[in-house]
Amino acid sequence: MYRTHSNGELRLTNIGQEVTLVGWVQKTRDKGFMVWVDLRDRYGITQLIFDGDRTPIEMVERAKMLGREFVIQVKGEVIERVSKNSNMPTGEVEILVKELTILNKSLVPPFTIEDETDGGDELRMKYRYLDIRRTPVRENLIFRHKVAIEVRKYLSDKGFIEIETPVLIKSTPEGARDFVVPSRMNSGQFYALPQSPQTFKQLLMVGGMDKYFQIVKCFRDEDLRADRQPEFTQIDCEMAFVEQEDILNTFEGLTRHLLKEINGVEVAEFPRMTYEEAMKKYGNDKPDIRFGMEFGELNEFAKHKDFSVFNNAELVVGIAVPGGNSYTRKEIDNLIEWIKRPQVGALGMVYVKCNDDGSFKSSVDKFYDEADLAKWAKITGAKPGDLICILSGNTDKVRTQLSALRMELATRLGLRKPNEFAPLWVIDFPLLEWDEESERYHAMHHPFTSPKPEDMALLDTDPGKVRANAYDMVLNGNEIGGGSIRIHDKATQALMFDHLGFTPEQAKEQFGFLMNAFEYGAPPHGGLAFGLDRLVAILGGQETIRDFIAFPKNNSGRDVMIDAPSKIDDTQLKELNLKINL
Ligand code: ASP
Repeated sequence: MYRTHSNGELRLTNIGQEVTLVGWVQKTRDKGFMVWVDLRDRYGITQLIFDGDRTPIEMVERAKMLGREFVIQVKGEVIERVSKNSNMPTGEVEILVKELTILNKSLVPPFTIEDETDGGDELRMKYRYLDIRRTPVRENLIFRHKVAIEVRKYLSDKGFIEIETPVLIKSTPEGARDFVVPSRMNSGQFYALPQSPQTFKQLLMVGGMDKYFQIVKCFRDEDLRADRQPEFTQIDCEMAFVEQEDILNTFEGLTRHLLKEINGVEVAEFPRMTYEEAMKKYGNDKPDIRFGMEFGELNEFAKHKDFSVFNNAELVVGIAVPGGNSYTRKEIDNLIEWIKRPQVGALGMVYVKCNDDGSFKSSVDKFYDEADLAKWAKITGAKPGDLICILSGNTDKVRTQLSALRMELATRLGLRKPNEFAPLWVIDFPLLEWDEESERYHAMHHPFTSPKPEDMALLDTDPGKVRANAYDMVLNGNEIGGGSIRIHDKATQALMFDHLGFTPEQAKEQFGFLMNAFEYGAPPHGGLAFGLDRLVAILGGQETIRDFIAFPKNNSGRDVMIDAPSKIDDTQLKELNLKINL
């Protein structure tokens, strides 16, 4: 038996017991006649003492030779510590070592394996197995496990069945590029890795499984914006014989369950906001509603003077920054610089300082009087002491820019508190989205999403106005889940493919299997998928998903530990009938 106890277990009540422990040497302190060793495993740290008076001197000498991260086994007696450490659960005891076995040696690790480390990101990724020995990383992985278990418990209790779907498939359009895998047995042909199990879960509904879920890997070959991973995990779900309302209730229940079990937080019923309202009020389809700073549209009160910038703009819109009146000229200039950066792209900003005495001072005093400014303050909800920031221009662009400013200011003001949770549903998404580049409509969610029946007539006349039975769950400014009620009849699905620019032949070749299935009694169905990585990070009060993934990829999509992707050898290429053309 390697051990009798873990390193997180022993307390004063164990005093006098003979125990066997194993683990890694975190640290040794050599005081000549006495040596202390911190022994670490997943469960904690226990202090070992090699005392020249009570331990054979030869063993004290061997203890001095122990290097960091050596794997050792010790036998000894639990004794009370003279100087106790109240910061450690095992801090009242130590082990008086009587036998020491080195199970394995270690090279000196490239960074310190403690809560605070001196290792940079790339180095820690290269030696991720060492990074995982650190408490913060280990705790995150354990946290993820707890969330996954609660998800499985909740869904299983509600009658959902976890079913695996294949990984070597054919393209499933979720709006990204596919990763492809060449087939040796079918020369010249390729599998695609699933961007999601979308079509399979729909087929499971046709197959009568009624309620499906799966914690599943998905693969999307996208340019990696910050905090995206080419492979990520979804909690993927589908239900038959449901309306949107059933789905919203079921998964609001799941999220509530998680917040309660994992975070001990009870949240009220989730507010619901239409896509249109979210864009109007927050310039964003995943609004962070932990704080106010809602948009105030000012067209009506800003286009009646000689200020051509506003007069020529499609939208004039502002937000009130709490306490912003105290910003210095320099701070405001910095803010203007910030929104002019190419990442945000605003051309400029008009501002109004709301003085404590109720008067105003603006950057457009030449054009607007106190009465105008007072109206702007009213519409944006600005109070004495606030600063109103106003942007103008093309509606979509200006909303995006002001949303970026709102989030940045909220971050700077500390309004985005990690331990506060503000979930909501955003509903009634548009069915289609115009793509400038290809000059045609794309499915905003995916091509299997059903249009709202009452908007069907608009499909030919004003396709951009058609709303879908599609919804997103938003938590603290992040989309954590999204889904839709699906099309379940062949005719509507064919019509949809047609609007998306597929010829009937292309639609048949890519999705014939689904259209065929719809001819054999497909039930009405719908579902959604949560992004598990992000959900876990947010519940954990953090933003970076990489910190909750055991073996993440870097920003260039590389696994620097195993060094992938990598070349394959000529024999493999030959077997696959592939030639590299670089
Ligand atoms: N398959 C969708 C996605 O990955 C989710 C869904 O519609 O259920 O976003």
